[in-house]
Amino acid sequence: MKKSSIKEKLKQKIYNGERISSKEAISLFSWDLIELGEAGDMRRKLISTKEEVGFIIDRIVNYTNICEAACNFCAYHARANLIKPYELSIDEILAKIKELALINGTQVMLQGGLHPDYTLDTYVSMVREVKKHFPQIYLHSFSPSEIFHISKKCSVSMDKVISELKDAGLDSVPGASDLLVDRIRKKVSPNKANKDQWRDVIFALHRQNMKSSATMTYGMGETNEEKVEHLNFLRNIQDETEIFRAFIPWSFSPANTRLQDIEPATGIDYLKTVAIGRIFLDNIKYIQAGWLTEGLKTAQIALTMGANDMGGVLMEEKVVKATGIETKAGIEEFIDIIKNAGKIPVLRNSEYQILKRY
Ligand code: SF4
Repeated sequence: MKKSSIKEKLKQKIYNGERISSKEAISLFSWDLIELGEAGDMRRKLISTKEEVGFIIDRIVNYTNICEAACNFCAYHARANLIKPYELSIDEILAKIKELALINGTQVMLQGGLHPDYTLDTYVSMVREVKKHFPQIYLHSFSPSEIFHISKKCSVSMDKVISELKDAGLDSVPGASDLLVDRIRKKVSPNKANKDQWRDVIFALHRQNMKSSATMTYGMGETNEEKVEHLNFLRNIQDETEIFRAFIPWSFSPANTRLQDIEPATGIDYLKTVAIGRIFLDNIKYIQAGWLTEGLKTAQIALTMGANDMGGVLMEEKVVKATGIETKAGIEEFIDIIKNAGKIPVLRNSEYQILKRY
């Protein structure tokens, strides 16, 4: 079959809303950006017909940067020598959450390094204290790597770690998937949960009826085939569990990391990743436009190519900031960006229920 008719057939398949194969997804990387973006937006319309774009008011609280894993792609952990080692006390954590509560923020992401001395009780107490003082705050916190680390350190099953954290008040766990490709993980994060261990945590969360999200950090020297390998891994898990509420792709920022020789991914790479993610992940409803790493203007374009959520108006973030990227955005900016993309801004909660329309 001629190349042009293979492409036409794939286009029809996409516009008919049919599931595409990994091989077909790989071929999309050679499509023209506008054509791909239109296809991504069309698939978004099949998943959510409303032109609403949600956002949430949240805060990341990075409770420690002391981390046993010391990943090569991370500028935040203490051994990267950019930020002095620190640990927040419970009072310091509560003070940060109080600031969020005062502006009617609804979600907190407690995230930190893999601390060598913390026990399950350290994490359970942290969650319990937050919930005691701020019962209205939704805790979308920790990560599969942190849960795997606690389980290994404390010789406690992952199910028990998760059920104790849940009983203390943990509501859901971000996927923090990085790139679920063995070759890349060995290079960028050899001491962190590997692909199968990450999957084991996701299934343990599913057994405990908890929700998660899926992310994708690309631009770490992977091939297009490996990008699709990651997407396929997520799609298969979602078919079995329906655990992911959203998919959030972002590009790796090499500055200040041990991988600073890697050429940073471009805006075109980002937009293609959003559109291909939207077409391929036919079982995940929300795709977030990654304004934090890509900037607000690129995120705005992503809203026309398959993304349908802006994520959080973050009050504080240290991990991306450590790579030298500092993008700030307030509610008014979010509303303008969304409206100027021809969409309806909506304030949402962590379960994607709408709290307010603008
Ligand atoms: S990415 Fe996470 S696990 Fe890896 S060094 Fe940074 S804080 Fe530690």
